[in-house]
Amino acid sequence: MTEAELAQKFVEYLQDQYELYFEVEGVDIVAKNGHILIAVEVKTSLNFRVIEQAYKSKVFNYATEDKTIINADQIIEGGAGYNYVKLHKEIEHSLPDYGLYNYPHALGFLTRGCIRKCYFCIVPQKEGILKANTDIDEFLDKRKTAVLMDNNVLASNHGLEQIEKIIKLGIKVDFNQGLDARIISANSDIAKLLSRVKWLKPLRMACDNKNQMQVVQSAVEKLRKYGATPRQYFVYMLVTDIDDALERFYFLRNLKVDPFAQPLISNVITPTKEQKRFARFVNTRQLRNVSWDDYKYK
Ligand code: SF4
Repeated sequence: MTEAELAQKFVEYLQDQYELYFEVEGVDIVAKNGHILIAVEVKTSLNFRVIEQAYKSKVFNYATEDKTIINADQIIEGGAGYNYVKLHKEIEHSLPDYGLYNYPHALGFLTRGCIRKCYFCIVPQKEGILKANTDIDEFLDKRKTAVLMDNNVLASNHGLEQIEKIIKLGIKVDFNQGLDARIISANSDIAKLLSRVKWLKPLRMACDNKNQMQVVQSAVEKLRKYGATPRQYFVYMLVTDIDDALERFYFLRNLKVDPFAQPLISNVITPTKEQKRFARFVNTRQLRNVSWDDYKYK
């Protein structure tokens, strides 16, 4: 594509949302939409260069497609929203470029995969069986805080060894994909290990159906018994059947943990109005003293 063709495409893209004025007081393009004004200098702003390869990612297959025009010979799409292609080993073991997004925490996967096969989850297909992935030193970059995106770190011996190491290094961590309550409930040593962790965010677990309530209660009791002291325990609740979810909500509230409701969503499943209404009821802090029967919002 030539520069002129690319400029034309860019103009068409802007025209959808803005009134356009050209060559205004030396500015190439001025785009106006209500109180929004954008000045575009074509040569400097559009930065016409031939890009050999561009990478585009999407996490969820139901996410809206990014329509940015990319002037590249080859566009490589990746992420679970497009496909389940695994990253090359060298990429898994590369230090992230933290400067790109000015992100304050180290970020990585100590393990990949999971031992379970929950029907709503793509991890078993995407990442396969649980395996060791990296050492925290590979992506820590001397940071004192880390967000770990492991799907089931407690089920891995390597994951547990890494948690020991994290404790020794004195790093604050967030296991942002949650910790498996079934493993904590079944093993006091793991609850003891977690009591030595410094938490960056609440400790997250999940209670996805009524059958898991007992195990969540046992995990929370063990964590409290051994003195795990995150700011809060935070429990995700998958929402499909409202009655089942409501029972879990009251159970979690009595257990004094923070529930977070997430209706089931995928490229073929759209949450119902009632599921969304229920999630709003659970997730709105100001409504903590309101019962579902009294919740009026439609
Ligand atoms: S335990 Fe978590 S990561 Fe593993 S399959 Fe279930 S939802 Fe997915």
